[in-house]
Amino acid sequence: MSVSEFSLINEFFTDTATFGLTPVIGIGDDCAILDIPSDQQLAVSTDTLVDGVHFLSDSDPCYLGHKVLAVNLSDLAAMGATPAWATLSITLPEMDAPWLRSFSQSFFALAKSHALRLIGGDTTRGPLSITLTVMGLLPKNKRLSRSTAQLGDGIYLSGNVGNAGVGLQKAKMGFSDIADHDLACYLKPTPRVALGQLLLERATSCIDVSDGLSADLSHVLRASGVGATIEQQLLPLTESVRQQMVLLDDPLWPCSTGDDYELCFTLPAGAAPPSADELQGLSISKIGVIEQNLGLRVSLPNGDIWPLDKGYDHFNE
Ligand SMILES: [Mg+2]
Repeated sequence: MSVSEFSLINEFFTDTATFGLTPVIGIGDDCAILDIPSDQQLAVSTDTLVDGVHFLSDSDPCYLGHKVLAVNLSDLAAMGATPAWATLSITLPEMDAPWLRSFSQSFFALAKSHALRLIGGDTTRGPLSITLTVMGLLPKNKRLSRSTAQLGDGIYLSGNVGNAGVGLQKAKMGFSDIADHDLACYLKPTPRVALGQLLLERATSCIDVSDGLSADLSHVLRASGVGATIEQQLLPLTESVRQQMVLLDDPLWPCSTGDDYELCFTLPAGAAPPSADELQGLSISKIGVIEQNLGLRVSLPNGDIWPLDKGYDHFNE
């Protein structure tokens, strides 16, 4: 790329807004320099989205900028962290000003709503892929983690599962109306950042559902050295997801579809989930209980209990 192309990129990604924590040094020097308040710790997470693997080729950049940030914010939410800063690296096949403009506008719209500041990045030429590193703040020695679920805990899920899976099917069929709820769940997921912060002092464990409920809940169970049974009829499902289950004749389909970005968390037996006032419209469903018997199982309405340990695996579709 020529120097003028690089200056154009700088124009799209220079963070001129005043939202977010001000770094000591932000974009423009060899490194960014950050001050961390002495009573807090830094939570750091990186995700890469690759063209054709994590998003469909020819995806509209006006959603992609949102999504790459949303999936990273979801990881901060799963730990209870408050978003602060991010670095962004984009590899593009060719310099494409309209693509970059649209991508950066959707990225900064979500960044602004979470007071997150872009503090650095890189642009290279190659097959399209996007890598984002987010940094968030946590009160010192307080965090949500995967490894601390306790025997007898209730297992809870925010929102619904399976809608992004339906949305992916619709996107593959060429639908693009973002007013469609399933497509919106797939293209513009909402990271549950406020819920993660609410759970910080209450939940015994937490994970975000990115690879599918069964895969992600299994991570919690393995890390915590416990097992669980969830009830199929307690899964929070919309009509469109139920229709897909009937179509595929698979009552467990929503457990294995990815990209939902809801939080799955555990609360001690008898503890109440956050109140409706605190949740501001977000629903919470209790879907099962932590047990001693290792592994994840699902009980069906007819009384059958099936093992449940499959999820979306980027390398074994
Ligand atoms: Mg995660």
